[in-house]
Amino acid sequence: EDVEPAGIQIAREWTQETPEDDPEPANIIQILQGLIKAAKRCKTKEAIKALMPLTGLVHFVKLRDSYRLHPKCHTPAMTASLIAARRLVRGPYFARQLRKLELYVLKYRKLPPSKSRTIVEQQSLLNNENIIHNLRSYLAILKIGEVTPHKFMQHINLIVLPSLGFTGPKVTISEVTAYRWLGKLGYQNKEAKKGLFIDGHERADVIQSRMRYIAKIREYQSFMPIIDNNTLEITNPFLPSGCTLMIAVHHDEMSVATNEQHRRVWVKEGQQPLRKKGNGRSIHVSDFILETTGRLALTLKQLEAQKRLPLQRQLKITDARVIIHPGKNGDAWWDCSQLMEQIKNAIPIFEFLHPNAIGIWIFDCSSAHEAFAENSLNVKNMNINPGGKQRCLHPTTIPLNNPPPLAGEEDTRGKPQLMVYGNDHPDPKLRGKPKGIKVILQERISVWRELVKAAGGNLTKVIGICKICKASQVERDASIRIAAQEQADGDVSIDDGTSNVLESSNNTCCMTRSLSQQQDFFDEKPRIQTYIEEKGHICLFLPKFHPELDPIEMYWGWTKHQYRAVSDQKFSTAKALIPKILDSVDVKLIRKFFRKTWRYLDAYEKGLDAQQAAFAVKIYKSHRRIGTVREVVEEMKKKSKDIDSILQLI
Ligand SMILES: [Zn+2]
Repeated sequence: EDVEPAGIQIAREWTQETPEDDPEPANIIQILQGLIKAAKRCKTKEAIKALMPLTGLVHFVKLRDSYRLHPKCHTPAMTASLIAARRLVRGPYFARQLRKLELYVLKYRKLPPSKSRTIVEQQSLLNNENIIHNLRSYLAILKIGEVTPHKFMQHINLIVLPSLGFTGPKVTISEVTAYRWLGKLGYQNKEAKKGLFIDGHERADVIQSRMRYIAKIREYQSFMPIIDNNTLEITNPFLPSGCTLMIAVHHDEMSVATNEQHRRVWVKEGQQPLRKKGNGRSIHVSDFILETTGRLALTLKQLEAQKRLPLQRQLKITDARVIIHPGKNGDAWWDCSQLMEQIKNAIPIFEFLHPNAIGIWIFDCSSAHEAFAENSLNVKNMNINPGGKQRCLHPTTIPLNNPPPLAGEEDTRGKPQLMVYGNDHPDPKLRGKPKGIKVILQERISVWRELVKAAGGNLTKVIGICKICKASQVERDASIRIAAQEQADGDVSIDDGTSNVLESSNNTCCMTRSLSQQQDFFDEKPRIQTYIEEKGHICLFLPKFHPELDPIEMYWGWTKHQYRAVSDQKFSTAKALIPKILDSVDVKLIRKFFRKTWRYLDAYEKGLDAQQAAFAVKIYKSHRRIGTVREVVEEMKKKSKDIDSILQLI
């Protein structure tokens, strides 16, 4: 009779368990209770053996946590472990094991393999080049998120080991070993969530926009309130006369899907898993935070004072936060016009809380935020020729940095230009109609002359749009649509899709490209920026892929963490609970979130890359700045084996 290998039996049990689909356990007790439940269900010899240490661990952790609160107990862990061991009729050796086991379980969410299973061959298997090669190529063909220790173990036991002549019931590896091997091959167990995207971070254009952003923030920083690193108390900076206080106001949006899955998936280092799409109702929050008052909302006292003001001086909206409930049968999805409305209400609240201060309104650069007004200068809103179906764009001034006129040629630089024909145009059919790209360029005499020259002086060779520009426009439109859709679904993608769009390398390939590169078209501002600047404030956009530079992201993370601990996955509960959690945030916690982003700014400014910055921010907790680059490198040497990233620095 054929006996199935032990590996397959264990694998079967795990297929039914599917531990990767379980909701994320929030703490050690929850992990342990899950393991105990699984062990009781399995009833294998291994599982029953595991019950003793698991039960001991539960006793130990609960006792230790209560002893920690006891003022007279100076060794809570030691005392708790000894008592927990005694309850199971065991001695100090078992107590010491319990103390070590807690860390292992927290890290691997399992007990370590028992001694009887770790056969000698296993230790040396991973030193065999053939096996490593075989395993790497097996892992390489799996898609992101498809790698699991269970599948990996099956592959080793059923294919790799027999192929090497290892057969028999004892020559299999356990799933725990598969976990460890995955780690050695460079795989990490990550939760699918919005996080640090190392992939996009170090793209040349992204680094450039990061540096531009940091330079601007530094320029304004000396006019911002000062927060004490330790007490987190706030004071105003010294302002030379004529200078105005500046306050950074961060905006962001958060979506909570009520049936959100917290899957853990195995990915190679640097890969980021995507969240699974849910189809329930969701809670969408759009809000602002600032270091001075935390949220952009009036206190109860201020609300009372408001009521005593004459009606026309009262604020209509006293809390800038907007929560909607989009989804099936719910509100419409969040869009740019809703954000615009929110900003219109938020600015008066800011000006009430900080009269005479300038707000630095900071947004992430999602496509929704960078939406342009209907009449903005954009070649996509225009035809090549006059009239027809195209938008009426706002008037402009011909850029001063256009080529100078030739002798006898009219100088059109700095002249006002209408994008639409006047009502006195000789051709009645064109009166009030848009001029189109060609005429606009011809009115910029020196620019048109250069275009004709580039076409070899042949007017018929000046084309409306060339093949390259046409293709890149189509591709860019598609990737922006996809990015917008993903955002509406609450998904986050690693790449915005625009990195590989081929762009024309010169500005004279066609009329469309030429006009799009004219300074006034190039500088056209998003709608929200125009509005904020009209109100006398400043508008900035965060560089792409840098959620760590946005303190409000941490506020969202904190909120979701609080919510998950009590969530029952019901929409009605979430709807009532989320606003309460959001309200309960302490202003000092928000200042801590800001402090962390200041540290990131400092790290990037010192030239660290994303991984090094994340490391530095972690070891310089409760500071606004990180240490010197050399200090960070020294620490990294001590704590990390990632030699490559250190070598790059020296
Ligand atoms: Zn072109």
